[in-house]
Amino acid sequence: MASNYQAPRGTFDVLPEEARGRARVEHAAAAIFARAGYERIATPAFEDTELFERGVGRSTDIVRKEMFTFEDKAGRSITLRPEGTAPICRAYLQHGMHKLAQPVKLCYAGPFFRHERPQAGRYRQFHQIGVEAIGTDSPLADAEAIMLLHDLIAELGVPGVELRLGSLGSPGPRRAYLEDLKAHLRAREDELSKDVRERIDLNPLRAFDADDEGTQAVMAGAPTIVERLADEDAEHFADVRSLLEATGIAYTIDPTLVRGLDYYTRTIFSFVCDELGAQSEIGGGGRYDGLIEQLGGSPTPAVGWAAGIERILLALGEVEEAAGRDAFLAVVDESQRQRAMTLAAELRHAGISTEVDLGGRGLKGQLKHADRIGARRVLILEADGGAQLRDMRSGEQRPIEAGRLIDEIGEAGS
Ligand code: AMP
Repeated sequence: MASNYQAPRGTFDVLPEEARGRARVEHAAAAIFARAGYERIATPAFEDTELFERGVGRSTDIVRKEMFTFEDKAGRSITLRPEGTAPICRAYLQHGMHKLAQPVKLCYAGPFFRHERPQAGRYRQFHQIGVEAIGTDSPLADAEAIMLLHDLIAELGVPGVELRLGSLGSPGPRRAYLEDLKAHLRAREDELSKDVRERIDLNPLRAFDADDEGTQAVMAGAPTIVERLADEDAEHFADVRSLLEATGIAYTIDPTLVRGLDYYTRTIFSFVCDELGAQSEIGGGGRYDGLIEQLGGSPTPAVGWAAGIERILLALGEVEEAAGRDAFLAVVDESQRQRAMTLAAELRHAGISTEVDLGGRGLKGQLKHADRIGARRVLILEADGGAQLRDMRSGEQRPIEAGRLIDEIGEAGS
């Protein structure tokens, strides 16, 4: 049986066997966030295009070429959200969250959309989990954010992950640095890729990310921002580092670290996994002290990150086993189907996972089915109102009293 239709390019279906692993990641993240006081927020899957143009930045790859943008019926430009931070800042402003105790600590999970060239670990609809702490410039918040992602990776057991840390400084000193960087790029312009050359003025930092050899050779000798930080920024960065050291989180300083969004200031970080190949980043983020102001609010410092659920699952490389069922109710005779259904409801209400045959199978077919779905015990309901309890692991079968059904099956679940 094949359909004429397939999931669109760069998208995928989450089938039950994959959904189990996802649920584990989402539950682990939710528990870690809750224990640190980050509360859940959900924003719409689409926003006014202008929000991302202003927030993420017109010079970024995301805004230049990766957004799913369309007009709604009233001619307004709408974009499927490519990232979560700008929408959350929009919500912070819209709902007057600056009046709450600061920082406002939020977490989220959901689908995001980017029109990228699909490959392993890079999709057009993908899923992120993330946190934002809005309303503080304390290095404690940077360290806490990093700790949360570090803890999640550790708890899930993602192998081969390394934390890279950098700082972009604040906008004033950064402008001076960017002029030096542009001069460096211009001096060797003909060695750069076309894309980098065209963006020397717009986004020179992205040259650090380039994968062509020519640009990489030019960047090997480029000035880096980490060595040019202004005093206050350098101090902030030193504080973040010593907090990480105090909590035993290993990192390497990466002076060439840049991120694909314009809003970052000061701390930036990236968790990369060497098992992942080209798309090696599990998650990353940083401080974005200017974003809220950029969106029309008063200056409000903030820090956050996002991690890709698909990347985490790829790095884990495991398929979660089905949990199996505590019990399966089989009937010898058609007259017992109703009794099976009533009993199944009772068992489920008692917290015992139970299935009945919905397919009209004969007894042999039902036992086979119970085995396939991993039922630990099968209760065989006989025509005279009696019942047999069969342990599927040992194959042992014995009569069981009607009054003791729930007790006995409950024990099987434990
Ligand atoms: P970003 O929002 O670009 O900072 O990305 C944060 C994280 O989201 C990355 O580290 C990836 O794990 C994940 N991610 C970003 N883009 C994609 C994509 N196209 N497909 C799958 N995961 C992605």
